Amino acid sequence: MSKLEIKDLHISIGDKPIVKGFSLTINQGEVHAIMGPNGTGKSTLAKAIAGHPDYAITGGDVLLDGVSVLAMEPDERARAGLFLAFQYPSEIPGVSIANFLRAAVQARMAEGEELDATGYYKRLYAKMDLLKIDRKFTSRSVNEGFSGGEKKRCEILQMAMLEPKVALMDETDSGLDIDALRIVAEGVNAQRAGAAAPGILLITHYQRLLDYIVPDFVHVMYDGRIVKSGDKSLALELEAKGYDWVKQEYATSQ
Ligand code: ADP
Ligand code: MG
Ligand code: MG
Repeated sequence: MSKLEIKDLHISIGDKPIVKGFSLTINQGEVHAIMGPNGTGKSTLAKAIAGHPDYAITGGDVLLDGVSVLAMEPDERARAGLFLAFQYPSEIPGVSIANFLRAAVQARMAEGEELDATGYYKRLYAKMDLLKIDRKFTSRSVNEGFSGGEKKRCEILQMAMLEPKVALMDETDSGLDIDALRIVAEGVNAQRAGAAAPGILLITHYQRLLDYIVPDFVHVMYDGRIVKSGDKSLALELEAKGYDWVKQEYATSQ
């Protein structure tokens, strides 16, 4: 059973500390939702774990199955089994989804390992059936002229093809409409039900998404760290009461 351990992580942008001691363990098969007010460092956390060069890790560690990923390049992190949706280019005119995904799968394989066409298409079609995606979809160019929902469908298909150990999904700023929301949720739930269910860190401030993807754990992030954890009922409480009570609790605890 794989796991991602985020240990007392500190992240700065320039000289400014943004993430200030974030700790969380995600076991394979678990869905952890991270919620929290705007500007508390949720996207910073995801980007730094992805290896974005603008985000400096100033303390703590991130371990995948006991091995630190912090010294790895982004593509090495992917090969180790981390899926980071936003590391993929947003639009690649002239490159079909089928060819793009093939390159992505090939890149994740160990050196010397070969992906033959028959095996690849078998796997691709099996994943598409699982996600109820039309075969015609794969001949389109990556994200070119895609609706928000189609972009999400492409992203979810990538995730299914790569079979990551742990996936980081930051849905906060993507402006999902209800159709895109449902595509993400159905895709995640289909993979959750499978044998190779990834661990998922789902960053969102839409409580509504959590009606579709029912998380095992909900964490509130504030001021760069987790200040409260609970189960799915915490998301409902936050929707009803907002974040002010969490901020007040946090202020009096300091
Ligand atoms: P969240 O995703 O929780 O809304 P972010 O991680 O996007 O929060 O932002 C946390 C803080 O870091 C904010 O104060 C934001 O202004 C700042 N920040 C984020 N990205 C950058 C950047 N590239 N350059 C400078 N400041 C940034
Ligand atoms: Mg934000
Ligand atoms: Mg964000």
